[in-house]
Amino acid sequence: MELPFAESYKIKMVENIRKSTGEEREQWIKTAKYNLFNLRSDQVFIDLLTDSGTGAMSDKQWSELMLGDESYAGASSYFKMKNAIQEILGFEYFLPTHQGRAAENVLFSALIKEGDIVPGNSHFDTTKGHIEYRRAKAVDCTIGEAFDTTVYHPFKGNLDLVKLKTVLKKYPAEQIPLIVVTVTCNSSGGQPVSMQNLKEVYEMAKKYGIRVIFDSARFAENAYFIKMREPGYAEKTIKEIVLEMFSYADGMTMSSKKDAIVNMGGFIALRDENLWKKASTFNIMFEGYITYGGMSGRDMNALAQGLYEGTEFDYLDTRIKQVAYLGQRLKDFGVPVQEPFGGHAIFVDAKRFLPGFPKEQFPAQTLAIELYLEAGVRSVEIGAILADRDPVTRENRYPDLEFLRLAIPRRTYTNNHMEYVAVALGNVYQRRNTILNGVKIVSEAPIMRHFTVELERINTMV
Ligand SMILES: *Cc1c(COP(=O)(O)O)cnc(C)c1O
Repeated sequence: MELPFAESYKIKMVENIRKSTGEEREQWIKTAKYNLFNLRSDQVFIDLLTDSGTGAMSDKQWSELMLGDESYAGASSYFKMKNAIQEILGFEYFLPTHQGRAAENVLFSALIKEGDIVPGNSHFDTTKGHIEYRRAKAVDCTIGEAFDTTVYHPFKGNLDLVKLKTVLKKYPAEQIPLIVVTVTCNSSGGQPVSMQNLKEVYEMAKKYGIRVIFDSARFAENAYFIKMREPGYAEKTIKEIVLEMFSYADGMTMSSKKDAIVNMGGFIALRDENLWKKASTFNIMFEGYITYGGMSGRDMNALAQGLYEGTEFDYLDTRIKQVAYLGQRLKDFGVPVQEPFGGHAIFVDAKRFLPGFPKEQFPAQTLAIELYLEAGVRSVEIGAILADRDPVTRENRYPDLEFLRLAIPRRTYTNNHMEYVAVALGNVYQRRNTILNGVKIVSEAPIMRHFTVELERINTMV
């Protein structure tokens, strides 16, 4: 018999979590204004809000904390991180930042001006926020297959080269300061970009004299998918694949809270010394001195260690197989999900879950509320609330995909927890015909509204 899946680690420390009653949850979600970001963590049994900074560090990472060098300038921890970045990612220059969006803020301050165009594959919300805040425009060039959850494509994060070329031809190079390639592509469902696509995008960019920056939060998960799915890579190690991936980039921004398996941290890495110098000034203004940039020495140590562990095959195999386990169990219950399953999360297709449900009543958010009420599971909407309003017209944007995202923290939950989540959402699916009313917005922020939006349940009977 083929041996079954089993985790490539064992547990040394535990944290208790508590179940709640349906009555308690009704009250709590109401007080939270039907925004799951407003729930207290002890009001949640299984927290799949995000995989960002919620992972479990290893014994080796915890040991590294003790070795942290807290010198203001030139700490050994800085050099530990520098070496890891050079060795694993192949970049000579880097700047630590406190998290991914801080890396975007610093790098975009050095690169983007009003009126600029930034093509990419479904830009992440903070990335888009930092582009639009500078009155520049993010142009989505993701392949069409990404927006149909019923079709199979091994690399739904790929950029459409025809769409990209149209943008690069339409605007002068001075107006396109960078192309952002997100690996894996969070917004289309944690979907990977193929090595071939990375290479082709880079070659096209070079032809037009434009730089390519990877938004790299889940670069290691992307490398895993290349190994498993792309011809010619099965025999290569994750570390070899990662180096080749980044050979098609001029630089990267990183949220280390994802694939570097730390609770807080980020960085920018670059090849161009001049750009690094320009960005350094903004790093000092916004983050901290260039050898710590908003991070403690101990955190830089844990991050460096996390980069080595996060690019080990056994770890990635455990991780991606757990996500796929949840995806398969949901499929068994008939729940419509984005396929193939993504690297960090299962994306439930809310439009197919609740057919005919009015988009103005936010179907994915409605599902998130229902799943919480059902079992105390926290998920997140990746749909119209997140898509926000058009910065020019101020109209609501309704994206093609309306997702409920179940993001799995790294090394944190067992497959029993996944089973619990699958049954909970399976139960909601069984009673889907009784879900008639959604929510409406009562109050919202002018940018990135999803974090703080206040909602009300719509009570009119249909
Ligand atoms: C999380 C994330 C970011 C932002 O990083 P933070 O650490 O949350 O600030 C940027 N891009 C992608 C693809 C991400 O997943």
